[in-house]
Amino acid sequence: MDRDGDKGFWLYDLRVETVLDGRTPVCRHIEGESFRVIGENLVFEAGQKISMYALAAVLPLLPAKQRETAAGDWMSTDAEIACPDPHCGGRFRIHREGRRWYSHAATTGLPDARTTPYWQSGDDPK
Ligand SMILES: [Zn+2]
Repeated sequence: MDRDGDKGFWLYDLRVETVLDGRTPVCRHIEGESFRVIGENLVFEAGQKISMYALAAVLPLLPAKQRETAAGDWMSTDAEIACPDPHCGGRFRIHREGRRWYSHAATTGLPDARTTPYWQSGDDPK
């Protein structure tokens, strides 16, 4: 993919929200707490927390949810991840929000293709 001659890719920003919908949590799941995923970073506002055990269940899905997927792909339609504790009612709803462009040269680890890392070029997303 190309944007103004720059090879790169689009990623959705994500917001991962704790939901209970009346279920009883075992872990510390506070309905409405959330964090964002912007590029490679997890971004937490002050006071927002997530159980590290629950985070372990959510993490593998985030890179796929950041990317465009086919309308019929379950990755497009299914947005809730259950806490891995089988007795816990905690879930995490992944919201796709705006998209951002990432330059290949600013994000790759390939030495021959790499330029200034995005966080050093003033393109570090807020
Ligand atoms: Zn839990």
